[in-house]
Amino acid sequence: PQDCAGATAEVFDLVVQLSSALKTKPHAVDFGTVFTDHMLTVEWSVTEGWQAPFIRPFTNLSLHPACSSLHYGIQLFEGFKVYRGDDSRLRLFRPMLNMSRMADSAKRACLPAFDQTELLECIRRLVEVDQDWVPQSDSASLYIRPTFISTEPSLGVKRPGRALLYVILCQAGSYFNSEADAISLWADPKYTRAWKGGTGDCKMGGNYGCSLFAQYEADDYGCQQVLWLYGQDHQITEAGTMNIFLHWINQDGEEELATPPLDGIILPGITRRSILELTRKWGEFKVTERYLTMSQLCCALKQQRVKEMFGSGTACMICPIGRIVYLGENLHIPCRDKQSVTSRLTKELTDIQVGGCPHIC
Ligand code: PMP
Repeated sequence: PQDCAGATAEVFDLVVQLSSALKTKPHAVDFGTVFTDHMLTVEWSVTEGWQAPFIRPFTNLSLHPACSSLHYGIQLFEGFKVYRGDDSRLRLFRPMLNMSRMADSAKRACLPAFDQTELLECIRRLVEVDQDWVPQSDSASLYIRPTFISTEPSLGVKRPGRALLYVILCQAGSYFNSEADAISLWADPKYTRAWKGGTGDCKMGGNYGCSLFAQYEADDYGCQQVLWLYGQDHQITEAGTMNIFLHWINQDGEEELATPPLDGIILPGITRRSILELTRKWGEFKVTERYLTMSQLCCALKQQRVKEMFGSGTACMICPIGRIVYLGENLHIPCRDKQSVTSRLTKELTDIQVGGCPHIC
């Protein structure tokens, strides 16, 4: 983790205007509905480049009705959290990885490049201004939502000449205690989240908006999330907005922790990367980025070779999977016990995030 107090760069032109009317902080609210007192905005234009970053009271945006983020989805976002440790200090978890993923998304969206270190420093300052919003609890956190939109005020489908990068903050409750219930997934090959050559490996709003329809169908089947499949062989790709892991005895009889490779249709999750690095360091079983198909999973379930399955992501950190509805069949996935990889990873990652453990960066 990176200490919030540990500034790495000066942002000389940062302007800070504090709010004169601070909000009352709510206790328990739905995720993403109540925002802190301040926000960061930075404007860009092709003629003048980046303007001075501005921390200001949280407010609505004013956008031209033709602006191309609204019409053509020329936009992207990021999501990460700041945690308050037992020692009361605030820590970010591997935030440069979010900056670099954001830069990759910006390139793909034809939005301009930005200074990643400077943006992170501005975010640190924003968090510092609103630090009282970070819950005094190691099971809740403050969610950081950097957003980058085209503000090009014209209907031409073209590279934007104007853009706005802004960052808002909201409280996030706990999803990550080890007793979390296993979730159920609905897998139907008729829907596709991402495809080769597309934008599935970027955090663009369009990837999420177009997943809603399938998500509601999953609800109808009593499932919490969609298990996204790909291709004729029904490759397992992601679960909802999580990367997916299978801990099993593979076809060659080896114990393996496997997750699909970053081949363009998978979002390169920061939690995913951290899990791969941690478990490779444990050195207790094979850790692989490889293709996994539904028929391999069904076969392994029949032969009782599956130990556990879980999703990974900033929201829930590690989320055990208990059931998959696939082609009209209910597949029961064995659930973890206290010694499971799921429980161990939950503990190790939590310890790192709240500062009980040294860095993994
Ligand atoms: N896949 C998708 C599609 C996601 O939206 C997310 C959330 N960012 C993830 C995986 C997990 O990524 P991370 O571990 O960086 O939160």
